[in-house]
Amino acid sequence: MNPSTAVRTTCPYCGVGCGVLASVNRNGSTEVSGDPAHPANFGRLCVKGAALGETMDLHGRLLHPALRPTRDSAALQRIGWDEAASRIAGRFSQIIAEHGREAVALYVSGQLLTEDYYVANKFVKGYLGSGNIDTNSRLCMSSAVAAHKRAFGADLVPVCYEDLEQADLIVLVGSNTAWCHPVIYQRIAAARAARPSMKLVVIDPRRTATCEQADLHLPIAPGTDVWLFNGLLAYLRREGRFNFGFLRDHTHGEIETVDAAERSAGNLDEVARVCGLDPQALRDFYRLWADHERVVTAFSQGVNQSSAGVDKANAIINCHLAAGRIGMPGAGPFSITGQPNAMGGREVGGLSNQLAAHLELEDPDHRDLVRGFWGSPEIADKPGHKAVDLFEAIYDGRVKAVWIIATNPVVSLPDADRVRAALKRCEFVVVSEVNRDTDTSDLADVLLPAAAWGEKDGTVTNSERRVSRQRAFLPMPGEARPDWWAISEVAKSMGHAESFSYVSAHEVFVEHARLSGWAQDRAPRMFDLSGLAELDAVSYDRLEPVQWPLRAGQTQGTQRLFEDHRYDTSDGRAHLIPLVPRLPQHRTDSEYPFVLNTGRVRDQWHTMSRTGKAPRLATHMQEPYVEIHPDDAISHGLHEGELARVSTRWGRCTARTRVTDSIPPQQLFIPIHWNGQTAAEARVGAVVNPVVDPLSGEPEFKHTPARIEAR
Ligand code: SF4
Repeated sequence: MNPSTAVRTTCPYCGVGCGVLASVNRNGSTEVSGDPAHPANFGRLCVKGAALGETMDLHGRLLHPALRPTRDSAALQRIGWDEAASRIAGRFSQIIAEHGREAVALYVSGQLLTEDYYVANKFVKGYLGSGNIDTNSRLCMSSAVAAHKRAFGADLVPVCYEDLEQADLIVLVGSNTAWCHPVIYQRIAAARAARPSMKLVVIDPRRTATCEQADLHLPIAPGTDVWLFNGLLAYLRREGRFNFGFLRDHTHGEIETVDAAERSAGNLDEVARVCGLDPQALRDFYRLWADHERVVTAFSQGVNQSSAGVDKANAIINCHLAAGRIGMPGAGPFSITGQPNAMGGREVGGLSNQLAAHLELEDPDHRDLVRGFWGSPEIADKPGHKAVDLFEAIYDGRVKAVWIIATNPVVSLPDADRVRAALKRCEFVVVSEVNRDTDTSDLADVLLPAAAWGEKDGTVTNSERRVSRQRAFLPMPGEARPDWWAISEVAKSMGHAESFSYVSAHEVFVEHARLSGWAQDRAPRMFDLSGLAELDAVSYDRLEPVQWPLRAGQTQGTQRLFEDHRYDTSDGRAHLIPLVPRLPQHRTDSEYPFVLNTGRVRDQWHTMSRTGKAPRLATHMQEPYVEIHPDDAISHGLHEGELARVSTRWGRCTARTRVTDSIPPQQLFIPIHWNGQTAAEARVGAVVNPVVDPLSGEPEFKHTPARIEAR
């Protein structure tokens, strides 16, 4: 590859947000390599990113808008974009007229570019006047969002990747970083090689690949993280490690929070018992945390995907605030984002309870502010349904039309058979997709062909608040179009031509950045992209990766937040949150004695629609599998490689038995990737309980009571 002619873009998979150099060879094949100049990865790529060039063929692509003449019809009828847009506009308008604006919804994705996300939110919240837009980002990091808002007043990630390299202690909680965020793990490994005194602790029920580097692994009992971190808070207090000056000057809530922690977890041996840990190992962890000023506690889905996910994240943040280990190099709590643009979606109000520019949907002044900027006729005046509730509302007929964009909820949501049943009952289903055949598009009345990675332009924001460009280097095939364009066409058909007259992603981005500046003048907040609000098309095209906030007049972004110890609350102070631990909602019993945990594997992404195309990625894990401890395998008559059936109160799935002592007794683990197209009986979403965190609405993917038997 000639780096001088390659297109600089960003990997479409995980939230690390690695820079990629892409070029198209004379034979039409795509070549990729890591971008040495991108500050997220400095040229590194994981195996998924490195295989991107093998996933670019058009096999299975949806290339034209299509209509399913009847629900049972497998054949699709090709239609034009004009007809598709006017049909969608017509049905949405009719349903709104008959049943009200809450009867329609959009369900979108952290795979969308920020420009797509912005237009989707503007359309639903400002022009349909409903809060009914939610995203699959609800499934991976909404608990962290809610925790940030409770602690800092807004959804703010304090740290950056460099902090991981500057820390003396890194604690990874509920994160198989080596497989799920591999380039972050590579950066940690390189930093440890250069500075062997740097310590790594992994807190995870399973002994994952991430533990191979760890100085200490705590195989915590599922669902007990709040006890663990309440215990740490109580320990820090006892050991005199509170930063009382910081607490006095910059926080609220210390006394109530410490009281609650002491009540639930004041005795270290009792904490060890509840968390299923060796007391000495727990003591070692507490000692390490207490003794290292520069500590980053990074957390991911193992914390977030829980009915107590928000409390778990706040339990971690409480410890950092109490010790004053935040807003300084090498220290802070760090939510590692799952998807490539979950953060960008949060910026534009991608969750059903948010407004754009980190403004609050439930604040009338904020609603007026956004409506005024958009010049929209109305604006949603209450939060819409969160993901799991949204499909329940579809199931029982409260929502009668849904437009699903860039996601496959029939595979990825919990209680997925009910999601499929909900879509079968739904009066009108639109699906925007890159691929023609998915478990969800099989149920669509109208299918819209979406432009894919490499074909569309826009931006994404990674886990460290860094905005990077995704750039097109291929033509859009057939009639595939960007999602912002498709949504604008429907909005125009509904009579909103002036407000959705965008001709490029650049125009959308600049409006998004201007809105953040408009908000600063009226409701100041830390999220700010106004430094990019005047970008012309050429500067947008050349935009270098930059971290927000980037205020008007600034050219450099902000690496780390809270260095001035000011938070986004009304008085600038952070909040410690008193926490009473609670166990997962559904407990194991004699009928369902195992805890089922789910997660990713190293070489696949989501429902495999892209990674499934690269043969070398399939060699790592060829089939869906269920991990089980050797003692349980013996007692259940299961052998390595045999098929096993896993059942829960919500459904059943089948997977190949993998016997390993890396999983504790009485627990099972199944990957999330296999779907109805690749392995129909292995759709793990069908067995996951639909319990959610009461604050964030994030599902409890990590804890479903289950049983297992030979098939
Ligand atoms: Fe892509 Fe994530 Fe791998 Fe980087 S670490 S190459 S963003 S999948």
